[in-house]
Amino acid sequence: MEHDDVQPALTVLSEDEVLLRDSVAEFAEAQLRPLVREMDEHAKIPKELLVKLFEMGVMGIEIPEQFGGGGARFFHAVLAVEALSAVDPSVGALVDVQNTLVVNAILRWGSDGVKTRYLPRLAADTVGAYALSEAGSGSDAFALTTRATPDGDGYVLNGRKLWITNGNEADVFLVFATINPEAGYRGVTAFVVERGSPGFTVGRKEDKLGIRASSTCELIIEDCRVPKAQILGEPGKGYKVAIETLNEGRIGIGAQMIGIAKGALGHAVKYTKERRQFGKAIAEFQLVQGQLARMATEVEAARLLVYNAARLRDAGKPFLTEAAMAKLFSSEVAERVTSLAVNLFGGYGYVKDYPVEKLWRDAKIGQIYEGTSNMQLVTIAKQLLG
Ligand SMILES: Cc1cc2nc3c(=O)[nH]c(=O)nc-3n(C[C@H](O)[C@H](O)[C@H](O)COP(=O)(O)OP(=O)(O)OC[C@H]3O[C@@H](n4cnc5c(N)ncnc54)[C@H](O)[C@@H]3O)c2cc1C
Repeated sequence: MEHDDVQPALTVLSEDEVLLRDSVAEFAEAQLRPLVREMDEHAKIPKELLVKLFEMGVMGIEIPEQFGGGGARFFHAVLAVEALSAVDPSVGALVDVQNTLVVNAILRWGSDGVKTRYLPRLAADTVGAYALSEAGSGSDAFALTTRATPDGDGYVLNGRKLWITNGNEADVFLVFATINPEAGYRGVTAFVVERGSPGFTVGRKEDKLGIRASSTCELIIEDCRVPKAQILGEPGKGYKVAIETLNEGRIGIGAQMIGIAKGALGHAVKYTKERRQFGKAIAEFQLVQGQLARMATEVEAARLLVYNAARLRDAGKPFLTEAAMAKLFSSEVAERVTSLAVNLFGGYGYVKDYPVEKLWRDAKIGQIYEGTSNMQLVTIAKQLLG
């Protein structure tokens, strides 16, 4: 009997999804793989690689074709971040912030003027950054103190931002500031600020445990004048911009985490088939097989959560809880799977000549940024308890 109404499985991809995933994976193997170690050591993404990422089309996946972008869906961005992160999670982070936070926010909240000004650039050659966190406000993001004071047809911004991914490479920054500190979250307003604006400086770059090539910078904002036309959404509605983009962004972090876990599993499978002890390949030991099987099962479970959240988002269905679960679980899986991969490499897993210690370091960030694991648990529990 035929069943036309049977839904395809979450991991069944459409033709264009397969095409994008495979072409990004090929690109990552050919162009990224040779640079991974050097980028980690020098904590830098080379300019030539950025140019190639734009040429590949992965910096403007959802940007409509009329603005020079790929005109694709959020799910495509998830596939691209996963494929890149399997080879280098720092590049995964760069592409993730560009697509799931910056472009996403401008597409949804930008005026026609903002879209026309920035989308063509973001698709062609301009990196974006998303500046919400400050030294004193992380999980409690709306306790931010960067101040926007009205001034004629614009605002004057003062404050400091911390931990801003892509700070080194970006020319366009989404900066969250308050127009009224007494109003709490209702004062938060999102501004588009360009590098080079008087009073806007990119400060110190952090020296990190993992995703070292992804720049994480401080922003120093002193009497920086921003016209009203550069506001995303409305004054005082920046909290909505932040909440909605981060709800989606964390699916992107889930994609980064399943990429990392998949990368580590691939290395472990290959290595355990090659490495010989007690006269045979270590993959022939049942205990090792059990470890590999557990890793593969965890990667698959995490992928289903991430893909489901992304598919719900593209279908216009509620996805808040599913996105929180996807990020929570996939970041834990990435930590466990990369750790097991280090174990399976033995002493070789502990040194930089082999790829898995880096993936283990890279995995840790998944439990911290775009809402710590505790904050994901809070979101999930809220939904459970009503
Ligand atoms: C590499 C990196 C890149 C980043 N990129 C960006 C970026 O591009 N843009 C940006 O705006 N920010 C960015 N961040 C900032 C990041 O989002 C914050 O670090 C994160 O939200 C946590 O905030 P915090 O560091 O202030 O920790 P805190 O909020 O101080 O949290 C410390 C601990 O307390 C726990 N905690 C806090 N509140 C609660 C609570 N209510 N219940 C239970 N536990 C709680 C947390 O779970 C955590 O374990 C980045 C951070 C890093 C490290």
